[in-house]
Amino acid sequence: MPTPSDNDQAIRLAAFNALQALMERHGEVLPWGLIHKGFTFRGEKHFFANKSRGIFWPRQMQETALSIKTPKQRGNRVARYNDGEVASDDAFLYRFQGEDVEGRDNRRLVRMQKAEVPLIYFYGVAPGVYRPLWPVYISNVNLEERSFHVMVDEPEKVNRFQPNTFTADAKLLSMERRYATVQAKKRLHQAAFRQHVLKAYQCRCAVCAFPRKELLDGAHILPDRDERGHAEVPNGLALCRLHHGAFDTNLMGIRPDGVIELAPSLLATQDGPTLEHALKGFVGKTLQLPRAKELRPKKLYLEERYERFRKVS
Ligand SMILES: [Zn+2]
Repeated sequence: MPTPSDNDQAIRLAAFNALQALMERHGEVLPWGLIHKGFTFRGEKHFFANKSRGIFWPRQMQETALSIKTPKQRGNRVARYNDGEVASDDAFLYRFQGEDVEGRDNRRLVRMQKAEVPLIYFYGVAPGVYRPLWPVYISNVNLEERSFHVMVDEPEKVNRFQPNTFTADAKLLSMERRYATVQAKKRLHQAAFRQHVLKAYQCRCAVCAFPRKELLDGAHILPDRDERGHAEVPNGLALCRLHHGAFDTNLMGIRPDGVIELAPSLLATQDGPTLEHALKGFVGKTLQLPRAKELRPKKLYLEERYERFRKVS
């Protein structure tokens, strides 16, 4: 006889697989419209998440939850994930639903912490757009903060997942999860940055106007080294892969007034159509920037970046 937890576990694994397939098809960030369609398991429709609920399980799950969700509110600035809400062990901080840890939703997460059961975390990187993370685990229940600490693990581990088998390696496991969580936060930040920059540039390369999102990046004008600084659209440019690569390696430079230059070494080279048209063809032309002034690159950033281009090339 399958137990309720076997049933929940089967649904959970089906959800992980369905989500994996969705991301392989549509990329790593998903619009709510796709998530909302849910998935089919044993001939029945199941949902991944619910628009109005943070902690969610489909009605077919009996004991545990399937996902948690943090939507991104409107606004142009890219917040550093959970700004000011990072728990001490580098985990994500996820607020209780209501005040009471014994509440119906919270109780399921408490149970999942005890049994080491994984969840999906739908993390909003822009309004209505989510980067799903899984497997994530509740690593701590903080009654004072009224919050859960959420840590990420490697997706490959899910298939090896057996409750309570990791206890012997608890220390190693916590190190691995801390690392995976830090990496996940970086990816979330990059995904949010790209999302905002592409939107500001209406999904076109600022150099060549190439319009396919799949081949467009959110390029940083100044490197994104500082955790607090520069994580904003005015430090970004939407660039296609070729022009992003050329910009990052200082083969292409952008003057503070937006005029495009190439490194002298490249200008002196003769080659086929890519060099002639896709690179040399834009020398002396001006970047195509967003209409809204506050979204355009900051002059100060362009100046500093251009200085570096001049020195290197
Ligand atoms: Zn381009």
